[in-house]
Amino acid sequence: TDFRTLGLSDAVLNAIAANGYDTPTPIQKDAIPHVLKGEDLIGLAQTGTGKTAAFGLPLVDQLLSNPGRPAPTGARALILAPTRELVNQIAKNIISFVKGTPLRVTSVVGGVSINGQIKRLAKGTDILVATPGRLLDLVDRQAVRLDTASFLVLDEADQMLDLGFIHALRKISKLVAKERQTLLFSATMPRQIEDLAQTYLTDPVRVEV
Ligand code: AMP
Repeated sequence: TDFRTLGLSDAVLNAIAANGYDTPTPIQKDAIPHVLKGEDLIGLAQTGTGKTAAFGLPLVDQLLSNPGRPAPTGARALILAPTRELVNQIAKNIISFVKGTPLRVTSVVGGVSINGQIKRLAKGTDILVATPGRLLDLVDRQAVRLDTASFLVLDEADQMLDLGFIHALRKISKLVAKERQTLLFSATMPRQIEDLAQTYLTDPVRVEV
């Protein structure tokens, strides 16, 4: 399979080439066409399978094909991940996908000063990558609004559960736009993640690698 058969726009295909990706990984091949169609999706996949691009590439594609500016303090897409390291890694990946486009990517994690993050969020952002705890802190300070986010990605959901973020995830899932696309990635599917998916995803497609 070639990336060109998956339905991605030329702008995104160029970003893929610039990244040196030649062939889609299995999760990319299976997930990208569904995500482009706007379907909710549960991806059972470990790290290292290329899952960041599996959601990141079609997400960027959709944001580019629906031009719109983020509202002040708003985000058009929200990606949640369990740890600082993972958020930074995802943000780095997504930044490489939006290179040469007007899309803005912002990441927020705990353990660093919140003031710089508040400032960066003020103008609004297209893609916000965050850990759940710091994100809710920023919501409480009204530094960010999530009701404009029509894409929600929960990455490594089982790890977020293990780290005690289940209530934060439920709270955040209620704050994002009701009309949205939700993608959930997890290496395992414990009961509480199944329940979360049942509540916050609509007719999700399941993809397993
Ligand atoms: P991930 O599982 O998203 O953390 O990705 C693991 C690594 O594989 C990252 O360094 C990606 O940049 C890289 N990668 C993702 N998709 C591809 C691809 N189709 N071809 C080559 N490398 C890739």
